[in-house]
Amino acid sequence: MAESKANEGTDQSKALEKRYVSLARKIILHYRVKVPRETSLRMCKACMNLLVPGKNCRVRKASSGFLLYICECGSSNKLFLLKSKPSTAKPAG
Ligand SMILES: [Zn+2]
Repeated sequence: MAESKANEGTDQSKALEKRYVSLARKIILHYRVKVPRETSLRMCKACMNLLVPGKNCRVRKASSGFLLYICECGSSNKLFLLKSKPSTAKPAG
């Protein structure tokens, strides 16, 4: 729901987007719900914005193996990328 409001881009939709994100954070903290890392990274904890890459945040990939989400307010979140495991399947034959 917050994503569709973020895509509208009007002042009222930005206010609603912030409201939805702050409500979601309140629910997550109160009921201790496990949220996927990618979802929690898309919420800015400083300004309660929904981070939409290309609209209000920048995504940078560092050589040390993490993604950096930089919000328009200046705060940043890091997402460490996991190295893919080598396949364990044995070759046929
Ligand atoms: Zn922010």
